[in-house]
Amino acid sequence: MRSLIRKCRNCYTYTMKEQCPECGTFADVALPPRYSPLDRFQRFRLKMEEEE
Ligand SMILES: [Zn+2]
Repeated sequence: MRSLIRKCRNCYTYTMKEQCPECGTFADVALPPRYSPLDRFQRFRLKMEEEE
């Protein structure tokens, strides 16, 4: 069983559905598993350090 937390683009309500229960706007997946901007940044830094 896998659950994805989604967040409304419009009112930032968290939901498990594709549509926000509050306003009906499409809700994006809030935290894709194993892929976050922070991980990407850390990987980028490591690469920079290797090249120097
Ligand atoms: Zn909403």
